[in-house]
Amino acid sequence: MRDVLVDVQGVHKSFKLGETQVRALRGLDLQVQAGEFTAVVGASGSGKSTLLNLIGCLDEPDEGKILLGGQDISHLDDAARSRLRNRRIGFIFQSFNLVPVLSVAENVELPLLLHSEVSDADRKARVSQALVDVELAEFANQLPDRLSGGQRQRVAIARALVTRPALVLADEPTANLDSETTAKLVDLMVELNQRRGVTFLFS
Ligand code: ADP
Ligand code: MG
Repeated sequence: MRDVLVDVQGVHKSFKLGETQVRALRGLDLQVQAGEFTAVVGASGSGKSTLLNLIGCLDEPDEGKILLGGQDISHLDDAARSRLRNRRIGFIFQSFNLVPVLSVAENVELPLLLHSEVSDADRKARVSQALVDVELAEFANQLPDRLSGGQRQRVAIARALVTRPALVLADEPTANLDSETTAKLVDLMVELNQRRGVTFLFS
């Protein structure tokens, strides 16, 4: 039997929208096993981003619990939350969220700068390897705005993987890309899942 990496138990989340209360998640249960490649599917507004944000510690549930590798992550303080996000979770966003004034390599390096146990040489090596993994080695010194949408999202994937997280969350990572680029990107994520054993949860 494989290990349960993510365990969402009876999670509720509502948002106040003016006078009304939007009940985005109503008692959601979900388990993701380590090594899985899982997609959450649903209409726009069905709560996919809300769920990924809760699992990624970008927000807290109103009710219920979320365990990551057995640890309850539903109500952490800011320091613990930042640490967990930087150490154990990679996040890939629909809009890429790259830093425009940093090169491709510097964007990928950014989350690793918080890992003081990784030496300078090791950090550079890991950034290079991550760029090779997403087939962008020759773009290392370019600024992101020189790249296509698909290439930018590959930079974001490299940035998510460089810290070797247990879990990669991807919120509609291909929503802004054409169908051919989407197919290639999904192939890449499947390959990284199989080759590196990275657990992916995406919408
Ligand atoms: P999806 O990602 O599946 O499109 P979301 O999780 O973004 O769905 O949204 C679920 C519901 O919660 C929607 O009705 C949305 O309008 C509402 N919602 C999400 N985030 C907020 C927020 N920060 N403030 C108010 N309403 C929100
Ligand atoms: Mg969404």
